[in-house]
Amino acid sequence: MKMKKINSIGYGHKIIAISAVFLVAIPGISYLFSYLLKVAGLLLISKVSIAIGLLILLFLFLLLKIEFHQDKKLERYFENNKNTRLLLHNGFYECQACGNRNVKQEQKRCDVCGSLFK
Ligand SMILES: [Zn+2]
Repeated sequence: MKMKKINSIGYGHKIIAISAVFLVAIPGISYLFSYLLKVAGLLLISKVSIAIGLLILLFLFLLLKIEFHQDKKLERYFENNKNTRLLLHNGFYECQACGNRNVKQEQKRCDVCGSLFK
């Protein structure tokens, strides 16, 4: 397995949190200050901030789309390589169904996913 896998589970919530800062926190603060200080320029800041927040969400959406596409590709790859194992440099084998790299030569079955090797 050489393909780099995008995994949004690790950072998806961080991206959402960052976009929430731009969509909610910064506009909220600048609205508050523009109300208190009567400075019109602060409203522009909140508009720019909302635009940035939406761009970040769009970025996350594209990322999820790519990830979904990758998952489908990986699924097909696994389907084609099910029940096979790959010899590694350290003498162990890598299960091609789940990526478990601790398969010993005498093992007929993967400990992790239960794949039966040919
Ligand atoms: Zn396995």
